[in-house]
Amino acid sequence: MTYIIAEPCIGVKDRACVDVCPVECIYDGEDQLWIKPEECIDCAACEPECPVTAIFEESAVPEQWKAFIAKNYEYFVQHPDAPVAPRKNP
Ligand code: SF4
Repeated sequence: MTYIIAEPCIGVKDRACVDVCPVECIYDGEDQLWIKPEECIDCAACEPECPVTAIFEESAVPEQWKAFIAKNYEYFVQHPDAPVAPRKNP
C-alpha cells in the first residue's frame, strides 16, 4: 500500500505534505506532486496536512480520482529520475 496524490494537487503543489513526510518520498512532477509507492511507509502524516485534500490512502481514493492510483505508479516508471520535492519550510 501507499498513499496517493490525486487531482486537487494539480496546479497547487502546496508541499506542506513534504515537510511532514519522514522518508522524503514525495516527488516534484510538472503539474503535481507524486508519492513513490516503494518508499512510502503508510504513516499517514501527509494526509491531514494537504490544504486541498488531495492525499488518500490507496484503498480510499474517491471514485472520481481512482485513475490517479495508476498515474501515481506510472509516473515513476516514466520519470525514474524525478526530483524529491523541496520542503515548503526548509
Ligand atoms: Fe510520506 Fe507517510 Fe505520506 Fe507516505 S504516508 S507519503 S511516508 S508522509
